[in-house]
Amino acid sequence: MTVDTTPDIESALRHVKSAVRELSAYTLRNHEPRVKLNQNESPYDVPAELKVALWASLAARTWSRYPPFVASDFIGAVAEATSWPEAGILVGNGSNELIQALLAIVVERGRTVVIPEPTFTLYRLLTGVGGGTVESVALEEDLKFDVDGIIAAARRTAASIVVLCTPNNPTGSALSREEIEVLHDGTEALIVLDQAYVEFGGYDAIPLLVDRPRVVILRTFSKAMGMAGLRAGYLLGHPDLVREISKAKLPYNINFVTESIAAEVLRNRGLLQPQIDRIRAERERLFERMAGIEGIRVFASAGNFLLFRVEHPGVDHRVVFRRLVEEHGVLVRDVSDYPMLERCLRVSAGAPEENDAFVAGLVAVLSR
Ligand code: PMP
Repeated sequence: MTVDTTPDIESALRHVKSAVRELSAYTLRNHEPRVKLNQNESPYDVPAELKVALWASLAARTWSRYPPFVASDFIGAVAEATSWPEAGILVGNGSNELIQALLAIVVERGRTVVIPEPTFTLYRLLTGVGGGTVESVALEEDLKFDVDGIIAAARRTAASIVVLCTPNNPTGSALSREEIEVLHDGTEALIVLDQAYVEFGGYDAIPLLVDRPRVVILRTFSKAMGMAGLRAGYLLGHPDLVREISKAKLPYNINFVTESIAAEVLRNRGLLQPQIDRIRAERERLFERMAGIEGIRVFASAGNFLLFRVEHPGVDHRVVFRRLVEEHGVLVRDVSDYPMLERCLRVSAGAPEENDAFVAGLVAVLSR
């Protein structure tokens, strides 16, 4: 069946909020390259012995019934892992779902969300969908956070939320404990810390939750936990605020497969630590190797990825991107359309042989 694209489509689209029609959707093309270093995924799968045990537990469940209304097994495992009370935890179908719920209960026309940029683009998109205003604060020249600038912007706009991605995607910059405290104390906004990459570096902000009801932390299973395909994440905050956020979350957002697997893997998280340590070590090795390549500038990173700028005169970063994938089978991410990131690409730290393939490809592409 083909979709009729006659001009009358406007009769439907005119009902869409104008703020939404002005936005571009978040999309990513499906690629199946030999070496996939474009989405900051873990190169290491969940250990096989754990998978076998998980399948058995799924087979024992009753599939015809709804999962428990509250995903208490998953929430209990998060509480145990984070030492944060269950009433202050929400679990989601990826952490993205939870930032969506949080923004939904706060953002409306006239409300401002302060976003240091460049950063993960979803915050801007979802603020726009909610009809709110984004107050963007540029990172500093070296891509560090402009703490004073963020505070000034939040005060000037009486912002409702400051979203801080730390470590930041795609730059790898991270905030220290002191910087987060200064940001918190200098503003009256909700301080949302997206810590999707914190297992790889940067300050783990969970201790800041105590006595600071304006702090909210988001975490994911998609990166260090090696389970992007599972779709699981969690949010930590003051129980009274979490109760409000839960009003914007769909019932049964966590299916029983995710609930069982996430809880069990979290209880066995010690098994994942060697993989996380290996990825951190690979990030450092990759950084050293890239720092030695003439014509590129690589930025230090606390995440499982590295941002680099193609500075080689006469070499177009888009050509580097295309030849890496077409001639060497290595897919990275082109982030050159983010503010401040002209000519920049981002590479995820993969397994050693994947990183070697990337470096060899990059050297070959730059030397032609
Ligand atoms: N936060 C940040 C900063 C990210 O970069 C990503 C993945 N690109 C996510 C969250 C993903 O969240 P999830 O898979 O948990 O929905």
